[in-house]
Amino acid sequence: MTTFSTTPNPNPASPQRRQEILDAPGFGQYFTDHMVQIQWRGNVEAGTGEWEQPQVLPYGPLSMDPASAVLHYGQEIFEGLKAYKHGDGSVWTFRPEKNAARINRSARRMAMPALPEELFLDSLKELVSRDKDWVPTGDGQSLYLRPFMIANEVFLGVRAAREVLFSVIASPAGNYFGEGTAVDIWLSKNWARAGHGGTGNAKCGGNYAASLIAQMEGDAHGCQQVIFTDPQRGNAIEELGGMNVFFVFDDNTLVTPELTGTILEGVTRDSIIQLAKDRGMTVQERAFTLDEWRDGVNSGRLTEVFACGTAAAISPVGRLISDTEVIGPDDARPGEITMSLRKELLDIQTGRGEDRHGWLT
Ligand code: PMP
Repeated sequence: MTTFSTTPNPNPASPQRRQEILDAPGFGQYFTDHMVQIQWRGNVEAGTGEWEQPQVLPYGPLSMDPASAVLHYGQEIFEGLKAYKHGDGSVWTFRPEKNAARINRSARRMAMPALPEELFLDSLKELVSRDKDWVPTGDGQSLYLRPFMIANEVFLGVRAAREVLFSVIASPAGNYFGEGTAVDIWLSKNWARAGHGGTGNAKCGGNYAASLIAQMEGDAHGCQQVIFTDPQRGNAIEELGGMNVFFVFDDNTLVTPELTGTILEGVTRDSIIQLAKDRGMTVQERAFTLDEWRDGVNSGRLTEVFACGTAAAISPVGRLISDTEVIGPDDARPGEITMSLRKELLDIQTGRGEDRHGWLT
C-alpha cells in the first residue's frame, strides 16, 4: 500500500455547491477538491529513474515552465475510467488494472517511464476515498477518473524527457449521451487519426488533436461522432474518435475490428466480447470493410451497430453518413442486442447485476 503525503484543500466546495454540481454534472466540466501527483526523474533510454513521494494536493492549476517538453512535443498520455456508487454507498471502479496495463503500453510507445501498477491503482483509490462525496448516485452517473502523464522537463531538445509528472484528477459525470438514442456517424474520408507504425493504439493526446478536424466535419453534417477507416486495408473500419465499434448479425454473430495497432484496445470492447461469448454469441475480431457494412444493411443480415467506450458504455449507431452515401435506415431504433448488452454491462458496473468475472475493484 502506497503512502501518500496529503495537503487537504483549504477551500473545498461547500456541500450546497457540490450538490448543485452533482445534480447536473454534465461531462468534464467540474472537478473534485483534490488531485494526485507523482513526479518522476530518470532516463528512459538508460532504463533508470524513480517515482518520488506520491502526493494528494488541493485541485488546482499546475505551474509549468513555458519550455516544458509536453508543451512543444506533445509527450503526453492519459487514461479514463469511472467509479460508481452502489446502493449500499460503497464505491467501485471497473477493471482498473486494464487501464494500468494500457497506460504502460502507451508510456512505452511515447518513450515515457512505466508506472508500477500498484502505484496507479493506489492513486485511484486514494483520490476516490478522499473525494468520495463527489461520486454522484443518480442513474447513469459516476465519477470519471482521468489519470495522465506529461513530460515536464524544461528542455527544448527533442528526446525522451527526463522529468515526467503523473497525475489523477476526477470529475463527476452524467450520461454522456442521451439514454439509448441512436447516433449518426460521419465517415471520415479526408482525415486519418492513425497510421501503421503510428500511435493509434496509444492513448496519447495527439491522436485526439488529430481527430478534431474530422469531428468538426462530422458536426457540420449533423453527426455526433466520426468513424475512421484504414485505406491501406481496403477501407477496413477502425474505430470512432473515442469509441470502438461492433456489428451485430442475424445469425447470433458479433463482429468487431481486430487490433491491428492502429486502434485503441478498449476496456469496454474487451468486456463486451466476454459478455457476448458468455451468452453464446459467436464473436469475430477481424477486418470489417465499408463494403461489408453496406452489403449487410442492404441484405438485412446486419441488424445492429453500436459503439462502446467508458464514457458512454454502449451507444446505438443509427446511420453512417458520408459525402456520397447514407448507410442505414432513417428511423434507426436502438437494437435489442445492443440494449441488452448495455443493460448487462451497466448493471455490473452499478452493482445491480452479478459481477461474475470479478471486474469490480
Ligand atoms: N477508442 C478510443 C480512440 C478511445 O479514446 C476510447 C476511450 N478510451 C475507446 C476506444 C474506448 O476505450 P475504453 O472502453 O477503454 O474506454
